[in-house]
Amino acid sequence: MSTPEVISLGNMLVEVMRPELDEPLDQPGSFVGPFPSGDTPIYVDTVARLGHSAGFIGCVGLDDFGECLLQRLRGDGVDVSQVQVLKEHTTGVAFVAYFRDGSRRFLYHWRHAAAGQLAPEHVDGAYLASAKWLHLTGCNLAVNESAREACLRALAYMPADAWVSFDPNIRPEVLSVAEIRSLCQPVLQRANVFLPSAGEAAMFTGEATDEAGCRRLAAEGKLVVLKQGPRGCRLFTEGREVAVAGFHVNEVDPTGAGDSFGAAITVALLEGMGLEEAGRFANAVGALAVTRKGPMEGAPTRQQVRELLASQGAR
Ligand code: ATP
Ligand code: MG
Repeated sequence: MSTPEVISLGNMLVEVMRPELDEPLDQPGSFVGPFPSGDTPIYVDTVARLGHSAGFIGCVGLDDFGECLLQRLRGDGVDVSQVQVLKEHTTGVAFVAYFRDGSRRFLYHWRHAAAGQLAPEHVDGAYLASAKWLHLTGCNLAVNESAREACLRALAYMPADAWVSFDPNIRPEVLSVAEIRSLCQPVLQRANVFLPSAGEAAMFTGEATDEAGCRRLAAEGKLVVLKQGPRGCRLFTEGREVAVAGFHVNEVDPTGAGDSFGAAITVALLEGMGLEEAGRFANAVGALAVTRKGPMEGAPTRQQVRELLASQGAR
């Protein structure tokens, strides 16, 4: 079996969304979709679009939504040989509504769907043993115990010199801060790269600010990349910090930007880019990701990234 360079696992979902702003989910109305989604599927799809080999471990149902996900991942070159197609469950779905104040509301059907069936026996040690990079997210550690064990098994199979990235992607509304910290602790400890959004670095470390939290984790030898939406990102290593401004784009749909951004950080490090160059590259990928409706639709190709980098200097 040939192993892809980059592997991730977790929830496979399709997203079905309200086409207009301010259409709540408790009223009848129209939807658009299905769009392939799931935080870690978006991540691997972006890695593949950016030209690196990527593989995914997860579960879909034997249905059209599952086929929609598989076609997209396969079409972009992701290895889906480790995706289980379950006859007894339907593919996970997320319904999304967007509001004028910038907020989003998600209604998930995943715990009882195929996505919620991910289990340690789906993780093949031989598949991971020669991978270079594993990406995990807090959201998949929190779904249920079997998904968490699957993530931890994948972590245990990774070679000692392989890279692990961790994106918390988890909101304190779902679990208490203490629960989140203890669930994620083994992954955060092993992670070489930590990818927090606003509030997460402070939440994980107990420091008063994200900045102090990022510095603390960087002092442990991690690369910490703080995602800052349209403002870009800040990168922290032991003794060095770089702020990289974002790109000007027309934001159509913010969902998935952070996952595509994380994929770009992976690609940048696999290619040996320096901190500043990696930040600029990932900002370009995150910016392009928000320009299309649908969480995975904006994941850019290398050519699109080159064009944006060439057309816009850093702010
Ligand atoms: P999510 O969890 O919603 O996917 P996130 O909070 O993990 O997102 P963001 O900070 O929203 O991550 O986005 C990741 C990166 O994408 C940012 O650091 C930035 O580089 C880029 N980005 C996001 N939104 C925009 C935007 N409107 N304009 C330009 N760049 C953006
Ligand atoms: Mg965001």
